[in-house]
Parts: sequence; C-alpha cells; structure tokens
Amino acid sequence: MRQVTIVGASLAGLRAVEALRTAGYDGVITVIGDEPHLPYDRPPLSKRLLAGEWEPDRILLRKADDMDSLGVTWRLGARAVALDLEQRRVRLADGDEVPFDGAVLATGARARTLPGQADNRDLVVLRTLDDSLALRARIAGGGCRVVVVGAGFIGLEVAATARKLGNEVLVLEAGPAPLVRGLGAAMGAAVAGVHADHGVEVRCGVTIEGFAPGAVLIDGGWHEPADVVVVGIGVTPATEWLEGSGLAINDGIVCHPDLSTGAPRVYAAGDVVRWHNSLFDEEMRVEHWTNAAEQGAAAASNLLAEDTGLRTTPYAPVPFFWSEQYDRRIQFLGRAHAHHEVRLVLGSVEERQFVALYGDGRRLRAVLGMNSPRQVMPFRNLLLEQADWDTALAFAMTLRT
Ligand code: FAD
Ligand code: NAP
Repeated sequence: MRQVTIVGASLAGLRAVEALRTAGYDGVITVIGDEPHLPYDRPPLSKRLLAGEWEPDRILLRKADDMDSLGVTWRLGARAVALDLEQRRVRLADGDEVPFDGAVLATGARARTLPGQADNRDLVVLRTLDDSLALRARIAGGGCRVVVVGAGFIGLEVAATARKLGNEVLVLEAGPAPLVRGLGAAMGAAVAGVHADHGVEVRCGVTIEGFAPGAVLIDGGWHEPADVVVVGIGVTPATEWLEGSGLAINDGIVCHPDLSTGAPRVYAAGDVVRWHNSLFDEEMRVEHWTNAAEQGAAAASNLLAEDTGLRTTPYAPVPFFWSEQYDRRIQFLGRAHAHHEVRLVLGSVEERQFVALYGDGRRLRAVLGMNSPRQVMPFRNLLLEQADWDTALAFAMTLRT
C-alpha cells in the first residue's frame, strides 16, 4: 500500500493520518477537503470562538509546523465528487483524480436547512469556521433578537453564547423537549431549566410556518421578531459524492464492525459512519467529537492491519460527549433511548448539578451528569463491563459523600 487517500480534512481524517504515521506507515498520504482550511476543531465554533474569546488560530487541531511533520499532501478547497472503486481513484470537482491503494472516508455531515433558506440571509446555520465567524459578526455587539430553530446541541449552545453576549434569545423546538433524542424528555427539560435561569425561553411543540422580513411565523398565527435566525435542525451525513460508488449508504456509510466498507482497503470514520457497536448491540451513527477522533485512529489501524494480513479489530466504544451552556458542563456516556428508565442518583435538577442513570430494565445503558465530571467518568468502566442496573445503582451509592 504505497498511497493512502483520506477524504475529509477534519477531526476523523486528521486522526487517521496521525495513526498511520504513528504506526510507521511511510507511504504517500493525500488528504482531500472541500473547506479552504487546515483541520480545525468544531466545538469552539458555538462556544469560545462564537463568543469572541478565541480567534481562529487557536482552534487549529495541530499547529502548522506540527502539521508539516506529518508529511501530508493537502488538497484543500477541493471537493470529492466520485469514488471509483475499480480504478481506485477519487474524482474531484475540478476533474482531477487522486489515486489510492487504501482510503479512509471521513466526510462528516452537513447542516440541514429549511425550505427557502438559501435565499434568506437572515437564516443561518452553524457547521464551519466561516459560519461561526459570520454569525459572530452579527451578534457580537449584543442587543439583537436571536431566534434559534431547533433545541438540539447547536441550538442550545448558540442560545447560551448569544445570551452571554447580551442578546435577547428565543429557542423554538418542534419536539416535546430539548435534546430529546440525546437525553430523553425528562433530562432535556432539566437542561431547558438552565436556559430559563438565564432568561432564555425554550418553547417546545412549535411548528414553523415560514419567515417574513425580520420575523419568524409560527403556528397559531404568531410572529416572533428576529434580527437573525439560527437554524439548528440536525445534520445529513455527507455521502452524496458516494452515490453510484457501490458502497452501502443508509443515513451514513454502512460499515462492518471494524469500520471497513466492504471494498478492499477502504474504511470510514466519524460523523459519516453507521456501524454495529457490539458493546451496545446496536447499529449507530454518532455525531460527537470523541467518536470522530477515536474512530479515525481505529479505521487507520484496521486499514494497516488488512494491508499486512493481520486480523482487524471491531470498534466497540462507549460513546461520550460533552456540552457547555452558560456555566454548566454536561457529560454523557453511552446511548439513551426513549424507553429507558431514567434515575437521578446524585444531586438535584433544581441545583443544576446532578447525575442520572439510564437503564433498559436489565443493563445500565447511559450516564448523564451536569457539572459532575468526577462522578460521571467512573461509570465508563461499568458501561464497558455491561454492568446490570442494580450494580450501577449500588455503585452510585458509593459516590455519595
Ligand atoms: P466533520 O468535522 O464534519 O468534517 C468533515 C469534513 O469533510 C468537513 O471539512 C467537510 O467540509 C469535508 N467534506 C465533506 N464532503 C466532502 C467532499 N465531498 N469532499 C471533500 N471534503 C468533504 N461534539 C462534542 O462531543 N462536543 C461538543 O461540544 C461539540 N461541539 C460542536 C460544536 C459545533 C458548532 C459543531 C458543528 C459540532 C460540535 N461537535 C461537538 C461535534 C463534532 O465537532 C463532530 O462530531 C466532529 O467534527 C465530526 O468530525 P468528522 O471529522 O467526522 O466530520
Ligand atoms: P441535533 O442535536 O440533531 O438537534 C436538532 C434539533 O432540531 C432536534 O431537537 C430536532 O428535533 C429539532 N428539529 C428538527 N427539525 C426541526 C424543525 N423543522 N423545527 C424545529 N425543530 C426541529 O442537531 P444540531 O443541534 O443541529 O447539531 C448539529 C450537529 O452538531 C449534530 O451532529 C450535533 O451532535 C453536533 N453538535 C454537537 C455538540 C455537542 O456534542 N456538544 C454541540 C454542537 C453541535 P427531533 O429530534 O425531533 O428531530
């Protein structure tokens, strides 16, 4: 394998490069990315960079010198438009073709938009550095009315930052509570409480009917004034360029448990991957930082294993994410589903400091903490061991002081 091509110049792609070089791979590595930037970190885009506390140079995933030491050929500002598995080439929008012996597909996801959004400059999304800087320019001075559509991670983090900057903020959510898919309704409501503490209303069960100049039109005939509307209604995996490639696509690239795609020496990593996580016995696609980082490295090391005739390793992690809103930091380990029992085991929602466990009637499935990192992280081992519910509850008791 003399030539590895990585498509997607962000977190998962960079971690794949680093893992290849760390393992001693000395062949050609080409990274193709459609953004003009070297890989940068997205979490600050809704937090410190948006708040104006950090500048773009602070969020590069590696310093420029460090980046040079990786010996990568960067094809930035270059969009991949097709993957030819027979000729083993990636075709770019400018007609150029990049050959490969091995490949890691790490094209992540793109923000969903509302119908007609492209023609309305007051409706914005937040996915890229450029998106964040453009939104920052509009809200940095405070005094705007910001309406956020969608009470997911983007919506709530932007709401918190915009509020801190002195803007008036309203969040509109179609579902019954914020963060329902990630945290379930009860814990989503607990997060909404934090926003209420800061004078931000999270209004749920709302249908957006349209937009007028300076206003959002919602069901019931209401007009909500808005200087800027941030649309945070989820993402779509960036797989359009793989149509016709022969790879299995179904809300992401469908991978085997070792992150292989079914084509020889072609792996995938990050937000774009759907795979079966045997630890949770669940097919999943994870849209968070730690997964993209770990999966990038895992995909690369399995690519090397396949190339050298070694056995590949299934990727079966405990998913993890964090979120920051105002002075609250949320940590979450595992996977939550609507049917899970949720039990508050430490602290209280009213104090905005607590730990809650999620169980499926048999096993511990997930752990959520608000401002309780030292109490949350020890549960990782229990999740790895597939601990039963009673064991998890008993362990929680030992953490009470
Ligand atoms: P991405 O970061 O999406 O990168 C994919 C790259 O591929 C992009 O540069 C894209 O433009 C490029 N690309 C796509 N298609 C093509 C193509 N055809 N040709 C060439 N290039 C292409 N997670 C947390 O756990 N905690 C947080 O606090 C947190 N905060 C976040 C805040 C924001 C504003 C955002 C947007 C995300 C946040 N996340 C957070 C999620 C985390 O950043 C993502 O899970 C992570 O970036 C995924 O990495 P990735 O490399 O898989 O994909
Ligand atoms: P998200 O977390 O999937 O949340 C989208 C929210 O918008 C959901 O609550 C969804 O409800 C709601 N929604 C969908 N359509 C709507 C509509 N038409 N009107 C009103 N509400 C609507 O996605 P996101 O917040 O846009 O975040 C984008 C990506 O960035 C995700 O991958 C996310 O994981 C990532 N991110 C992560 C973090 C973090 O980990 N801390 C921070 C920022 C961003 P339903 O669920 O009912 O569809």
